[in-house]
Amino acid sequence: QERYHDCAATNFLRFRGSLCGLDTYQNGRSGRMDPSLQDKIHARNHEFHLRMVETRTLSKRSPHYTKGVPSTMAAQIWYENDGDLSVLEGKKVAIIGYGSQGHAHALNLRDSGVDVVVGLRPTSKSVDFAKEQGLEVKSVADAVAEADVVMILLPDQYQAAVYKKDVEPNLKPGAALAFAHGFNIHYGYIKPSEDHPVFMVAPKGPGHIVRREYTNGRGVPVVVAVEQDPDGKTWPLCLAYAKALGALRAGAIKTTFTEETETDLFGEQDVLMGGINHLCDMGFDVLTEAGYQPEIAYFEVCHELKMLVDLMNEGGLNKARWSCSDTAQYGDYTSTVITEETKKRMQYQLKRIQDGSFAKEFIDDQDAGAPKFKQLQEEYGNVRIETVGPKLRAMFSWNNGKDEDADMATFNGKIARTQVQ
Ligand code: NAD
Ligand code: MG
Repeated sequence: QERYHDCAATNFLRFRGSLCGLDTYQNGRSGRMDPSLQDKIHARNHEFHLRMVETRTLSKRSPHYTKGVPSTMAAQIWYENDGDLSVLEGKKVAIIGYGSQGHAHALNLRDSGVDVVVGLRPTSKSVDFAKEQGLEVKSVADAVAEADVVMILLPDQYQAAVYKKDVEPNLKPGAALAFAHGFNIHYGYIKPSEDHPVFMVAPKGPGHIVRREYTNGRGVPVVVAVEQDPDGKTWPLCLAYAKALGALRAGAIKTTFTEETETDLFGEQDVLMGGINHLCDMGFDVLTEAGYQPEIAYFEVCHELKMLVDLMNEGGLNKARWSCSDTAQYGDYTSTVITEETKKRMQYQLKRIQDGSFAKEFIDDQDAGAPKFKQLQEEYGNVRIETVGPKLRAMFSWNNGKDEDADMATFNGKIARTQVQ
C-alpha cells in the first residue's frame, strides 16, 4: 500500500513539476500552455485525490494508527450528548491566565455551572478585569492548591517556569492538568508525574470567538487528547470540560498531543501566517517595485484576501474558486509561484517541528530575554505594505477603529509584555 502511494505521489509530483510552462518561462520562451495538457493535469489530479481519500496512510502521530495496518478510519468526533457535565460536579477548576483563551474558558465554564477559580499574578492587570466579571481570583499557587483540574492558559514560553515554581509544588494528589495546546508536554518542557491525568482541549479559534460563540448558544470546535490516564477517568473528564466550554455544540475531534502540536505549528508557520503573510508582503513589493501605486497594490494583494477567505471558510477552495471569474480561476490553476521547491521547504520546516529544533530555537531565545523575537517584531512591524495599510483601512466604514480594537490591544500588550519580561 505504502509503496503504491509513494509511487502515485511521485508520478503526480513529477507531472506537476513540469507544470504550467515554468521551465519554458525560465528558459525565456513563451509560457503559454496547451489546454489539453491542462485537462490531463486535472484528470490526474482528481484520480490522485480519490486514491488518497480511499485509503489514508496514517502515521504513528495519528490517534488511529495501528502498526502495519493502513487505516480507513474516519476521525472520531464527539458531540453534545457525548459529554457529561456531572463529571465536573463537586470539582474545582483553576484557570491559570486570563488572556485570549483564559477569559473564554473561565467565563464559559462558570456559565455552564462549573466551580471556577482564576489563577493570576497579583500584579496582573487582568485581576480587576476578571473580578469585574464576577470571577474568584487568587494567586497561581493558591488557585492550584484547591483545584481538581488545572487548565494552563499562559503563553507557551512562560508555562514551564510557572509550572515549576507555582503549579507543581501545589498540585493536589491526582489533580488533572489540562492544556489548550500540546507544546510544553510534547516537547517535554513540562513533565508531570505519572499520577496526574493530563488532557488537552484545544479550541480551533481565538479566545474571543470561543466566548462570543458560547454566549450566542453555539461553540467553536476543539481537538481533544489524553496524554496520561492514571485513573481511567480522563476521557470523560476531558469531554465534560469540552462540553462546559460549549465546544461539543460544534464538535470535538480526537487527536494526540504530538499530532496537535506538530500540525498546529506547521499550519501557523507555513500556511496561515508564515505562508500568507510573506506572500502578501512580497506581492506588494513586486507590484510597487514595478512602478504601480502602493494603494492599488494594497487592494490587490492584501485587502481582497478577506473576502476570499470568507468564501473558503464557507465552502472550501471550490467555493472561493467558483465565485471568481474564469480569468481568475485560470490564472489560479496555472500559477507557477508555489512550486515543488515550496513543498520541499514546507517539508523541511515540518522536519524542524518534528525533531524539536524549532521549539528549541524559540524557547532558547525566549529564555535569553527574546532578543531575536523582539528584533523580528521590530523588523516585520515596519514592512512596506504596512506603511499604506492604515490609511486604506480607514476608507472602509466597517473597519473604523478596528486597528485599535481589543485584539490589536492584546497584540500590542504582547509586545510590551515580551519587552518587560
Ligand atoms: P495570552 O497571551 O492571550 O494570555 C496569557 C495570560 O497569561 C495573560 O493573562 C497573562 O497576563 C498571563 N501571564 C503571562 N505570563 C504569566 C506569568 N508568568 N504568570 C502568570 N500569568 C502570566 O495567551 P493565549 O493566546 O490565551 O494562549 C494561552 C494558551 O492557549 C497557549 O497554550 C496557546 O497556545 C493556547 N491557544 C491559544 C489560542 C488563541 O487563539 N490565542 C488558540 C488555541 C490555543
Ligand atoms: Mg492553530
